[in-house]
Amino acid sequence: MAQIDNLPPLRDVIERHDLRAKKSLGQNFLLDLNLTCRIARAAGDLSNHTVIEVGPGPGGLTRALLHEGAKKVIAIEMDPRAMGALQEIADHYPGRLDIIQGDALKVDVTELAPEGPVRIVANLPYNVGTQLLLGWLEQDAWPPFYDSLTLMFQKEVAERITATEQDKAYGRLGVIAGWRTHADKLFDVSREAFSPPPKVTSSIVHLTPKSNPLPCKLRYLEKITAAAFGQRRKMLRQSLKSLGVDHLALLEEAGLLPTQRAETVPVDQFVSMANILARIKPD
Ligand code: SAM
Repeated sequence: MAQIDNLPPLRDVIERHDLRAKKSLGQNFLLDLNLTCRIARAAGDLSNHTVIEVGPGPGGLTRALLHEGAKKVIAIEMDPRAMGALQEIADHYPGRLDIIQGDALKVDVTELAPEGPVRIVANLPYNVGTQLLLGWLEQDAWPPFYDSLTLMFQKEVAERITATEQDKAYGRLGVIAGWRTHADKLFDVSREAFSPPPKVTSSIVHLTPKSNPLPCKLRYLEKITAAAFGQRRKMLRQSLKSLGVDHLALLEEAGLLPTQRAETVPVDQFVSMANILARIKPD
């Protein structure tokens, strides 16, 4: 195992703070600091950035972010048992680590580092991760408060986030992520890298905001993608019926064939459909 700082090995930290992984908190810890350093580097140059880290647990990734030169890290962790371990890291890097104990779904991260710039890095339980990702993609203000998101997901979810049309995994997540960001799957992380090992392989996804995404109201994009992918095997002339509008006219105006299926429609045309829907059936 790599020695990147003079702090004790993560196994000892976990033992000393009685941080046995809890399933209810989706805890699968990374113990290899070589790997966490690789993830930290995937977030890009951190020397001018405040990194908001969600779900640091015993701090393997936190240590890597600080070691790799993050100007500052603000870590949000729900598990009170992790506070002692995180405080030791804060003491080792004076003034560079702030710890917030709480549920990341309830913390307003937009206000944490008003001076900016900010990057977000997280290895979270999958359901919380997807929910947070959607929240970060759905910001009213765009470009948003962050320069990038570097996130761990189950591989299958990572493939959905980064999918484009024609990919098997293309769906609502790919459309929403593709509308506002450039999303790339960087590398896989095997089950064995975690303690305890999860059921499936994980992947790191890196997203950077597009500076000028096509204007669109997210709720209409949600409606269109829900209808279109709700019945992804069906042609659009069938699946979009549920919108309760003249969907054939909508398709024609968006330049799409009624016989196309959702998985063949590029993001820009989903945005066109969403904007047409907003005009003909505003809510
Ligand atoms: N980042 C650490 C690592 O890579 O070893 C821990 C990863 S573990 C998969 C997920 C962490 O997120 C756990 O420490 C868990 O307690 C924390 N967590 C789960 N739900 C959370 C939430 N809603 N808000 C903040 N932290 C959460």
